[in-house]
Amino acid sequence: MERFELPEDPLAADLDQFIERHHLTERGRALDRAPGFPRPEFEAMGAAGWLGLTTPPGFGGRGLPVARAGVLLHRLGYRSGTIFSKLSLQPEFCSVLREVGSERLIDQWFRPLVAGRRLVGNQITEPGAGSDANAIGLSARRGEGGYQLSGEKSEIAFALEADAAIVYGQVQDGPTGVSTFLVPQDGAGIVRRAVGTDLGERWQQRGSVTYSNAPVPTEARLGEEGRGFSYVRSELTRERALLAAIYLGVARASWVETVTHVGERSAFGRPLSANQAVAFPLVEDGADLDAAWLYVQRTLGRLDDGEEAEGQAAQAKSMATRVALRVLDHAIQFHGGHGYSNDLPFEQRWRDVRSGAIAHGSTEIMDLVAARKLWPRRPPT
Ligand SMILES: Cc1cc2nc3c(=O)[nH]c(=O)nc-3n(C[C@H](O)[C@H](O)[C@H](O)COP(=O)(O)OP(=O)(O)OC[C@H]3O[C@@H](n4cnc5c(N)ncnc54)[C@H](O)[C@@H]3O)c2cc1C
Repeated sequence: MERFELPEDPLAADLDQFIERHHLTERGRALDRAPGFPRPEFEAMGAAGWLGLTTPPGFGGRGLPVARAGVLLHRLGYRSGTIFSKLSLQPEFCSVLREVGSERLIDQWFRPLVAGRRLVGNQITEPGAGSDANAIGLSARRGEGGYQLSGEKSEIAFALEADAAIVYGQVQDGPTGVSTFLVPQDGAGIVRRAVGTDLGERWQQRGSVTYSNAPVPTEARLGEEGRGFSYVRSELTRERALLAAIYLGVARASWVETVTHVGERSAFGRPLSANQAVAFPLVEDGADLDAAWLYVQRTLGRLDDGEEAEGQAAQAKSMATRVALRVLDHAIQFHGGHGYSNDLPFEQRWRDVRSGAIAHGSTEIMDLVAARKLWPRRPPT
């Protein structure tokens, strides 16, 4: 086997120490069995600077180039799965707050988020609007000093746990387009409830949030009315490329473990790896992991260079998810009966990574984003 080494970074040793000191690998496994939001680890990550890797230092982050953040998140995914690497991205998922929120809101919510003291979520999806986010129906009715929000948000991560959320809605009798509000989740007119049990990423404890004439002050609006999606576009591009780095890290760990296993495990008097039916898929997986990683790195590099990369980031996420799921499926398969059990980490990793094909834009919508770059939409003639 060619020796595999994780991509290096000056912060890699610090990160490895942090992972070990806080037992993130074991905690990630435990959180699958007993789901809950990992507040102590969230606080520790904030205190040690592992939240908001790309967040500018003026807002409490490390201000790393996205390509370096990708290397570190890949490493975190490799060592401890998706949970803490995704948690590290939470300030990235809330970039719109720091980009167009008022100083007061930033002080109250964004800086504490980066410090691991307050959890801020995102609420876009509704029972009647997911991929087609422009169909959002939550209404914001103008009133004295602000707005009243009414409507339901569904499929929401941290529905019960978030201290505040960035909520997307339509201003009644306002401009066309979606508007964005920062809403503390303990306010009047807000009801939150847990829904079902997820296939993976159970720690996010998704649920729904209902707003019934919930009052929010004018200052809670992020940017201008109707411009919500224009603000969030570059954030989505960065986060998709960074998520791709995470999924490939998780898959890479599983591939390395599987390559080792099939070299050691014997059946019919020879190692499993002596069978082409076992060896060849793993050889192909190794090449696909490398290829996908190069594509992700190139995309992250484009972002650092200030180049447009919306289509590439969308493809990075769908490619990484596809490759990772196949690698994880092979990991389960070639570990045999034991691989199917939660005694080994592969089934959880498969379940966790599976969300990558749906959340933050489904694979089909990622293809649509990339296709629109090849064939830009023309106004109807
Ligand atoms: C783990 C997880 C966490 C999530 N967290 C959040 C959160 O915190 N906040 C939030 O707002 N949302 C969250 N979501 C919701 C997620 O963003 C949506 O589920 C996703 O955008 C898809 O929307 P939908 O569920 O309504 O599916 P639909 O839009 O109904 O799509 C169903 C299927 O149809 C396909 N499809 C739709 N339109 C097209 C088209 N034009 N061409 C081809 N195929 C199409 C989709 O790709 C998908 O496969 C989360 C989802 C998951 C799984």
